[in-house]
Amino acid sequence: YRREFIGNVSHELKTPIFNIQGYIQTLLDGGLADEKINIKYLERTNKSVDRMINIVEDLEVISRLETEEDQLDVQPFNIIQLVEDVFDSFEMKANQMDIKLELKHEASSDIALGDRNKIQQVFSNLISNSIKYGKKGGMTSVRFFDMDSNMLIEISDNGIGIESHALDRLFERFYRVDKNRSREIGGTGLGLAIVKHILEGHNQQINVRSTPGLGTTFSFILEKGE
Ligand code: ADP
Repeated sequence: YRREFIGNVSHELKTPIFNIQGYIQTLLDGGLADEKINIKYLERTNKSVDRMINIVEDLEVISRLETEEDQLDVQPFNIIQLVEDVFDSFEMKANQMDIKLELKHEASSDIALGDRNKIQQVFSNLISNSIKYGKKGGMTSVRFFDMDSNMLIEISDNGIGIESHALDRLFERFYRVDKNRSREIGGTGLGLAIVKHILEGHNQQINVRSTPGLGTTFSFILEKGE
C-alpha cells in the first residue's frame, strides 16, 4: 500500500516537473527573446510550480494526520462560527465564480464536539470543491440539522455533479473524475481522501449523493457539544 502511494506521488509530481523542464528548454532555445511566447511560457511554468505546491501541501496534511493519528484534540467548539470563518476565506474564490455561500442553521445548538482545526480542514476541502466544481452564478449551501444527540451537516452545491460509477472511488487518494479538468483548476485528488481520514478519526463517515448536471451533497455527523 505504501509502495503504491509513493508510486502515485512520484507520478503526480513528474508531470509538472517535466512540463517545467520543457518550458525552460523552450525559453533557453531562443524562446526568451520571442515576445510572443516568453511570457506565456513563464506563466505556464508558474502554473506548474503552483501545482507542485498544492500537491506537496496536501501531502504534508496527510503526513501530519498519519503521525497525529491518535492525538485528536476533541473539544466543544462553535461550528457555526467556524463555517463563517471558512466562508470568509473563500469569499474571493466564490465571487470569481459568482457563487453564493449560504448557511442554514436548523440545529438546536451551535456547539459540536470534535477537533476544531481538523474539522476546519474538512469544511475547507468540501467548500473549496463546491466552488471548483460549481456552476457560474450558482450556490454552496451548508446546513445543520439535529439528529438525536448529534448534528447532521450537509454541504451542497448545484454544480456539475458526479456520475454514479465514480462515487465509489471518490475518496481514494489521487482519484479524480476528470483528470484534465481537475488539473486545470489546480486539484490534487487528495482533498476528499483527507476529509475521509479526518472524519474516520472522529469515528464518523462521509457520505455523498449526486446528480450529474444538478449538483452534489456531502454529509457527515458530529456529536453535539452541549
Ligand atoms: P481534487 O483535488 O481533484 O478536487 P478531491 O479529492 O477533492 O480532489 O476530489 C476528487 C474528485 O471528486 C474531483 O477531482 C472531482 O472530480 C470530484 N468532486 C469532488 N467534489 C465535487 C463536487 N462538489 N462536485 C463535483 N465533483 C466533485
